[in-house]
Amino acid sequence: MQIAVVGTGYVGLVTGVCLSDIGHNVTCVDIDESKVERMKQGISPIFEPGLEELMVKNYKAGRLNFTTKHAEAFNNAQVAYIAVGTPQREDGTADLRFIEQVAKDIAQNLQNDAVVVTKSTVPVGTNERVKSIILEYLAKDVNVEVVSNPEFLREGSAVSDTFNGDRIVIGADSEQAAAIIEELNKPFGIPIYKTDIRSAEMIKYASNAFLATKISFINEISNLCEKLGANVSDVAKGMGMDDRIGNKFLQAGIGYGGSCFPKDTNALVQIASFVEHEFNLLKSVIQVNNEQQRLLLKKAKERFGSLEGKTVALLGLAFKPNTDDMREAASITLAHELVQEGAKVVGYDPIAMDNAKKLLPGETIYTNSAEEAVKMADVVFIVTEWDEIKSIKFDDYVNWLEVPVIFDGRNCYDLEEATKYKVEYHSIGRKSIK
Ligand code: NAD
Repeated sequence: MQIAVVGTGYVGLVTGVCLSDIGHNVTCVDIDESKVERMKQGISPIFEPGLEELMVKNYKAGRLNFTTKHAEAFNNAQVAYIAVGTPQREDGTADLRFIEQVAKDIAQNLQNDAVVVTKSTVPVGTNERVKSIILEYLAKDVNVEVVSNPEFLREGSAVSDTFNGDRIVIGADSEQAAAIIEELNKPFGIPIYKTDIRSAEMIKYASNAFLATKISFINEISNLCEKLGANVSDVAKGMGMDDRIGNKFLQAGIGYGGSCFPKDTNALVQIASFVEHEFNLLKSVIQVNNEQQRLLLKKAKERFGSLEGKTVALLGLAFKPNTDDMREAASITLAHELVQEGAKVVGYDPIAMDNAKKLLPGETIYTNSAEEAVKMADVVFIVTEWDEIKSIKFDDYVNWLEVPVIFDGRNCYDLEEATKYKVEYHSIGRKSIK
């Protein structure tokens, strides 16, 4: 099939590359010229395991193209995917400016009948709005159907998730349009779930809100564990053995970040408020997470009294391992608040350093290795559980620091192990080792 994908971010590029890999002819269009230029040179503009190789393979095979011109992308397109950002506005609602612009771009450039597929996460009712914009601006007398196909990939494993996802949700009011998108996705071999458009839009928000709830729930339990002398890792394990609960998303830590959970939970609270529904549960989930992101700072202040003049090494800056995405990362909150407390911040991340520099305070010092960062520090905060960071041994900390004081926001180490070394080790929901 001839496919256009609008937006080449984490979702658009991965979608375009994977659709070309299963044999479709895909043209990806983005307004960011530098991104398009890099992709044409075989360089992925984002870090995502396996993506660049697959992109180059399909580009060379002639099934994948990149352009900045919408007319070029929509020429002959039978299916047009919308994969642009839906960022959070100040008031928590989703900003649909990019979506609306793309709807106009599509309408003005379509040459033949097409199915428009919304991959971006959009509030319930948005696909209807997309359809009405397209019909308003349509330049040619062609038939357009709109389908909601929310995306569930996770950054850091986006390519693998696209080939091995749990389900593909197709929300459509037209059976024919749904059948086209089902056929197009069949080679992935993933269960397809068809429903109406509004339910499909809701599935995405409900899924993210549920996962965020699981995270905040276990974090709240971890705070209780600390006060009651229980060990949250054991508690989570014992809970997770119950099939009804499941063992995923039960790792206590310093909360969720990234470009999805924070914005989607806030958007759903707003979506609810527009229909006069107070989503109190989700409001609490968000509040717990905001506090959790600051937990290492709180613990360090309790330990030292003041952090004035102390140098704190932040190990890992990305919002999670295996990505260069810094959006809503805990490191941003921590670095800014540490600077306010009069501390010096030294940051290290294996991949996200360039993006971090745009978001962390100007005073932050960056190093080329975790070792260098630790050696400069009085206190270590483990923020992101990259394998490289988890592979640092207590022995290393003992060698690199005179008095190792480690605040581990991701429970990277076994407590038993910590007792064997001369380290002071504080983690989440477990007793401190001194
Ligand atoms: P992103 O910010 O990484 O990428 C968006 C891209 O769209 C940018 O490259 C931008 O230049 C381009 N763009 C904007 N306006 C354009 C236009 N008019 N024409 C062409 N290109 C245009 O965004 P993302 O992280 O890929 O997210 C996209 C959507 O998918 C969001 O709604 C997000 O909530 C959702 N989503 C994201 C993830 C994720 O893990 N990132 C997962 C599931 C769903």
